[in-house]
Amino acid sequence: MENNLVLYNTLTRTKEKFEPLNAPFVGMYVCGPTVYSDVHLGNCRTFVSFDLIFRYLLHLGFKVRYVRNITDAGHLEGDRDEGDDKFAKKAKLEQLEPMEIVQKYTLGFHDVLRLFNTLPPSIEPTATGHISEQIEMVKQIIDNGFAYESNGTVYFDVEKYVQSNDYTVLTNRKLEDMLNNTRELGGQDEKRGRLDFALWIKAKPEHIMRWPAPWSVGFPGWHIECSAMSSKYLGAQFDIHGGGMDLAATHHTNEIAQSEACNHVHPAKYWMHTNMLTVNGARMSKSAGNGFLPHQLFTGDHPLLTRGYSPMSVRFFMMQAHYRSTLDFSNEALDAADKGYKRLMSAIALLDKMKATDSKPSSFDCAATRDRCYAAMNDDFNSPVLIAELFEVVRFVNAAYDGKAKIDSQTITEIKSLMQHFVCDILGLKDDLLTQDNGSLDELMQIIINIRNEAKANKDFTTSDRIREELSAAGIQLKDSKDGTLWNKI
Ligand code: AMP
Ligand code: ZN
Repeated sequence: MENNLVLYNTLTRTKEKFEPLNAPFVGMYVCGPTVYSDVHLGNCRTFVSFDLIFRYLLHLGFKVRYVRNITDAGHLEGDRDEGDDKFAKKAKLEQLEPMEIVQKYTLGFHDVLRLFNTLPPSIEPTATGHISEQIEMVKQIIDNGFAYESNGTVYFDVEKYVQSNDYTVLTNRKLEDMLNNTRELGGQDEKRGRLDFALWIKAKPEHIMRWPAPWSVGFPGWHIECSAMSSKYLGAQFDIHGGGMDLAATHHTNEIAQSEACNHVHPAKYWMHTNMLTVNGARMSKSAGNGFLPHQLFTGDHPLLTRGYSPMSVRFFMMQAHYRSTLDFSNEALDAADKGYKRLMSAIALLDKMKATDSKPSSFDCAATRDRCYAAMNDDFNSPVLIAELFEVVRFVNAAYDGKAKIDSQTITEIKSLMQHFVCDILGLKDDLLTQDNGSLDELMQIIINIRNEAKANKDFTTSDRIREELSAAGIQLKDSKDGTLWNKI
C-alpha cells in the first residue's frame, strides 16, 4: 500500500512525511510501565495510543519491530537519583520479594492491556534482564569522556556534553533556565554539575536489588535501561521513539544524551509523545492519588464513577481524542462514548443481516469514504476525524436498514470491508458482547424470537410487546421484516 503517512515529530516540532530508515522495516521503541504498582487509566491511554500507531503501521504493510520495555529496577522515589527504591519499598509493604512485586504487576499490566485489545509488542525486555548491556554502555560513555565516577556512583557529565551537543534539543528549553530551576549543589553532593544525572548508583547497605559493576555493587540509573535496550534490539539509530509527554523533559532528554555520548548518533528519527489523561484538568498520576485503576472503571467501583463501562467503550473514549490532545475524564464523556461505541457496533452487526434492496450501485460512495478515512489516519493518526467519517457510514447503514436508502450487494461488501479495516484492525475495537459468544447469543435470541412469534400467533400481544420492550431496555432491538424478525444491539 502507498505510504502517505505524515506524523508529528517532537524533535523538529513539525509534521513530517514518514520515511523509515530501512523500509519496509520499522523500529519502534516505547517506554513501558514501571511495575511496582497497578497501571492506572492514564498509563493505559499512552499504551492504547501507541497500539493505534502500531496497528496502522502494520496495516500500511510495514514490518514493525515494536519494543516496549518493563522497568523493574532502578526507580528511586525522587527524580534526583535519591530516595527509597520504589520496588523495595513496595516489597516490604506487601511482604513480598521485589521480584514477586515485579511479576505480580507485570501480569496485571498484561491482563489490562489484553482487555483493551492491544496487540503485544514484538519484544518486551526488562531492565533487570539487561544489566550487563547497561554496564557496557556506561563503560563506553566513560571511555568517550562524557561520564565520571564519584565514590562508586557514575554520573553523566552534562557540562562536558553541551560543549559539543544540544542537550535541550527535544524540548527547546534554554539551558540557562534549566540550570536556574535546579537546586545548587551542596558540599555533600558527589556530582560535579547541577544537571548531571546518575548512570550507575552505588547501593546503600539496605538496598536489596543490586548487581556487581566495575564501580560498585549497585544498580542502574533511571534512564540508561532504555538507551541500552533500544540500541540492543533496534540498533544505534531507529525510526520511532515514543512515550508519554511527561517523559520528554527528563527521561527522553537524558536518553538522547546517553545514546549520543555512547554511539555518536541521535538514537531516533521521529520522537512521538502522547498527551495526558486528566481528571478535572489535573494529570492522572500515581502520586496525585487521582488514578483510577482500569478494573474500577469496568465495575464502576470508584467514588467518582456513576457506573461501570466496558473496556471497548473506554478504548473508544480514548480513540475519540487525538493522541496529542489531552483527554479529560468525566462520566458524561464516557456515557457519550459508550453510546457512540454501541451505535458503531450495532451498524456492523446490521451489515451481516442486511440484504440488497437494489441492483443499481447505491448513492453511497464507499471509495471516497475510504480515501477520507486514510487521509485522516495519514494526518498524524487522526482517529477523531476517522471516527466522524465512520459515523457517516453508520448513518447510511441505518437508513438502508430502515428502508430509507437503497443498497446494492457490492456496497454491502465494500462497507463490510471498510469497517473491518478501520474499526477492527486499525482502531482495535471489537464487539464486547458478540465476540465473546457470538454463536450462542444468536441462538438464544432465536429462541426468544420464536416464543414472541408464538405469542403473536396466539394473539397474546401483552407477552409479545413485553418481550420487545424488555429486550429494548436491555439494549437489544427487534425489527420485524419480510425476512422474519431481526435483532441488533442498540
Ligand atoms: P510509568 O509507569 O509511570 O513509568 O508510566 C508509564 C507510561 O504512562 C509513560 O509513558 C508515561 O508517560 C505514561 N503516563 C503516565 N501518566 C499518564 C497520564 N495521566 N496520561 C497518559 N499517559 C501517562
Ligand atoms: Zn524509557
